[in-house]
Amino acid sequence: MNVTFKVRRYDPSNNGKGEHQSYSIDVDGDTTVLDALTQIRDEQDGTLAFRGSCRSGFCGDCSMRVNGKAKWTCRMTVGKAEKDGEISLEPPRLVTVVKDLIYDQETFMFDKYKAVKPWIEPSGPVPEGEYLVPQESIRDIQRAMSCTLCGLCDEGCTVLVVDKTFLGPAALTKAYRVMADPRDGKMGRRLRDLSQKRGMWDCVHCFEATEHCPKGIDPTDLIFAMRDEAIKRGIGPPRVVRHHDSFAASVKSSGWLDEARLVIETEGFLNPVGLARLLPTALRAMARRKAPIPYLHSKRKGADKIKRIFKKWEATKK
Ligand code: SF4
Repeated sequence: MNVTFKVRRYDPSNNGKGEHQSYSIDVDGDTTVLDALTQIRDEQDGTLAFRGSCRSGFCGDCSMRVNGKAKWTCRMTVGKAEKDGEISLEPPRLVTVVKDLIYDQETFMFDKYKAVKPWIEPSGPVPEGEYLVPQESIRDIQRAMSCTLCGLCDEGCTVLVVDKTFLGPAALTKAYRVMADPRDGKMGRRLRDLSQKRGMWDCVHCFEATEHCPKGIDPTDLIFAMRDEAIKRGIGPPRVVRHHDSFAASVKSSGWLDEARLVIETEGFLNPVGLARLLPTALRAMARRKAPIPYLHSKRKGADKIKRIFKKWEATKK
């Protein structure tokens, strides 16, 4: 089949100007996009710059946007990628491009990766000889172990688009990998670090990271797990802990959420300034029947069953 590749070019020596360049090739539909790109470089333009390493879905080095969506090009065939005989290729959105499709991974990801201290820090003396992860913990760690740090989850993240300083799902996945390891003894400190500004609490759980991960990792779920652990240890930001507690208390007592109570309790009774700030909006919303009157919240049918579920769950935590 004849396919035209529209490749985003960027030449730092050309005043940093980027432009699209088209290359047409005859190629089999089963050829990977990465192999087709290599063919273009070998046969038509030796100046075309891109990365590709393992070529078989292990390293993630060949990540780029194919028709606007971030992909591993070694795992995508031309037949699947082409639309009306065309394929567009661009570097990821959030990166600093070095040349054409090559970008600076240091600033994109590695700095954040280093920030989560991705190494085991035992709390006591390490036993002599092999120091293996016990079998019963392996399954949990495996949820994050196959991460190749390709960054596609960061590329899909809806928070990083508006705030590049957010730690991002790739680094948080690594943080989980280390924290869930029973040989590490710094969980408390790690959770406190991740609870700083731009840390795990900035995730808006849009699940785009999960959608984007080619290794089937669920970074959003790992972030949830770390947040749960932080709340259990009383480490989460006080406002978040209050929000969490109020949400659960409301559902436990009435079977559904009292949204007005949630707002008040999240802000905190000891925060009159915060509550006063919310008052005009709350009164306007209540006048227009857009917000319920707090604490005047009828019980839902079946609320007692929900309360029993809560009690059973609470008993498991003792
Ligand atoms: S979690 Fe998945 S998408 Fe994110 S860096 Fe790891 S392998 Fe890539």
